[in-house]
Amino acid sequence: LPETSRHSLAIIGAGPIGLEAAALALELGFDVHVFERGEVGAHALAWGHVRMFTPWRMNIGPASARLLSRHGWSAPDPAAHPTGAELAERLLSPLAATPR
Ligand SMILES: Cc1cc2nc3c(=O)[nH]c(=O)nc-3n(C[C@H](O)[C@H](O)[C@H](O)COP(=O)(O)OP(=O)(O)OC[C@H]3O[C@@H](n4cnc5c(N)ncnc54)[C@H](O)[C@@H]3O)c2cc1C
Repeated sequence: LPETSRHSLAIIGAGPIGLEAAALALELGFDVHVFERGEVGAHALAWGHVRMFTPWRMNIGPASARLLSRHGWSAPDPAAHPTGAELAERLLSPLAATPR
C-alpha cells in the first residue's frame, strides 16, 4: 500500500474544488472523507439557471476526468458552456457517485 494510505484526509464541501481534491487524493492513496452539509454541488445548484462563462474543458479537473473515465462517463463537449445545474448533474453528482 502507498505510504499515504495510513493517512485520512477530511475535505469540507462537495463542490468542484473539494471533489477534484478528493479525486487526486484517492490517486495518491489517501483515505478520503468528503463532508457536505447540503447536497453535492449545492453552490452551483443555487445559481443553476445561469450559464457559465467557462466551457467544459475549463470546468473539469484532470483527476476528476481520470476518475470518471474509469466509470463509463461520457465527457461533455469541451467547447460547450454548461449551466450551474448542468455542472452539478454532469460532473459533480457522477463524481460523488463513484464507488470510492
Ligand atoms: C452566478 C455564478 C456564476 C459562476 N460562473 C463561473 C464560471 O463560469 N466559471 C468558473 O470557473 N466559476 C464560476 N463561478 C464560481 C464558482 O462557482 C466557484 O469558483 C466554485 O463553485 C468554487 O468551488 P468550491 O468547490 O471551492 O466551492 P463551492 O462550489 O462553493 O462548494 C462548497 C461546498 O461546501 C459546502 N459547505 C460549505 N460549508 C460547509 C460546512 N461547514 N460543512 C460541510 N459542507 C460545507 C457547500 O454546501 C458546498 O457544496 C460562478 C459563481 C457564481 C455565483
